[in-house]
Amino acid sequence: MKLSAFGRKFTADAGITSLMDDLGNAMASGDDMIMMGGGNPGHIPEIQQRVQEILADMSRSESDVRRLVGIYDPPQGEKQFIAALAEMLNREYNWGLKPENIALTNGSQAAFFMLFNMFGGDYGEGQRKHILLPLAPEYIGYADAGIEPGLFHAVQPDISFTDAHEFKYRVDFDAVEVTGETGAICVSRPTNPTGNVVTDDELARLEQLARDHDVPLIVDGAYGTPFPSLLFVDATPTWNEQIILCLSLSKLGLPAARTGIVIAAEPIIKALSGINAIVNLATGSFGAMLADPLVRSGEILSLSREVVCPFYKAKMQKAVAVFRDAMGEDSCRWYLHKPEGAMFLWLWFPDLPITSLELYQRLKARGVLVVSGHYFFPGLPEDGWKHRHECLRVTYSQDDERVAEGLRIIADEVKAVWREA
Ligand code: PLP
Repeated sequence: MKLSAFGRKFTADAGITSLMDDLGNAMASGDDMIMMGGGNPGHIPEIQQRVQEILADMSRSESDVRRLVGIYDPPQGEKQFIAALAEMLNREYNWGLKPENIALTNGSQAAFFMLFNMFGGDYGEGQRKHILLPLAPEYIGYADAGIEPGLFHAVQPDISFTDAHEFKYRVDFDAVEVTGETGAICVSRPTNPTGNVVTDDELARLEQLARDHDVPLIVDGAYGTPFPSLLFVDATPTWNEQIILCLSLSKLGLPAARTGIVIAAEPIIKALSGINAIVNLATGSFGAMLADPLVRSGEILSLSREVVCPFYKAKMQKAVAVFRDAMGEDSCRWYLHKPEGAMFLWLWFPDLPITSLELYQRLKARGVLVVSGHYFFPGLPEDGWKHRHECLRVTYSQDDERVAEGLRIIADEVKAVWREA
């Protein structure tokens, strides 16, 4: 089969495809794997019950069913939901949004693909622009989203230690360089894979940099604020015309509804809707209609703060306690990133005698599936920084007992690696 450059680029062995294959194969193998690899949200009973109620109400209404399955939405997305969302966000945060500031996409992953290629790549007359990721490590799902190779430029973080076994990445503003070749800046907040939350101050400085260079700051709020609020530290919900805020219904518990929400200046939403029309014709209505009553009542915010956030916070605290206990004080050097949000522990084993990929393989052989940290540095030049081969991402969204068992096995295996050294 002969393929175009596009075809070749998107069928090459992308990090995310090999990772998804590996996770999928491990799951399909039927072994009793402890799954701490993927980003699937947990199943929260209160959310599921509310979704069931909404579905039951919708199924009784002929006009709702027609809207749900019988009508193509405009490329910008379901109009009534967009209007309700703009109204709710204005009521709550005074953002001054019009419906023209919001577009829906089939999952936020699709929004990133469109946005990255809108702002990064070939600008004609020999000019190429990149997407700047000011704080590596960053979400692996960005890595292969560029139609052109080399779309991302990432910056190594500052590392500060927050206790004997805890550290935090911070943006190294001395190293962040926005130039005429920067098309946009992008951060996930909270960050997948680390659970870091870029502070309000860091966000304001990034916004100022974006403003000074007249490029957008893309804030990936898939886990963040105002919803779904998988946040264990304060983070102010922020939007203005310099920012493209990308939200998602996935981590609220609706990943299969494939609903991404983009909030941006009107010309950006217009351009994005145009691309969405070509790529998708229309965005599916299902997520918008499911979330519509939650948005109208403001419940989406209260459920996020009072149900979703505490659910993940409790899981995080249990996972941290188990891991601290399993590693103990006297064993090898180990750290975890300060868990400030999302659903991951980011473990760092300085000077580990094997790479994180080898550790991943040894853990898989023991029935524990995690993700090797080396995948999460898209756009960071290969500069011999060994930190990128010393970390693991561990998802704690699933059953607490299984997560605890998995963490104990990780601790045991790391100690075994050191004993063999
Ligand atoms: N952004 C981040 C940081 C993520 O972790 C994910 C999924 O895991 C996404 C975006 C994409 O999510 P979705 O396409 O389900 O909205």
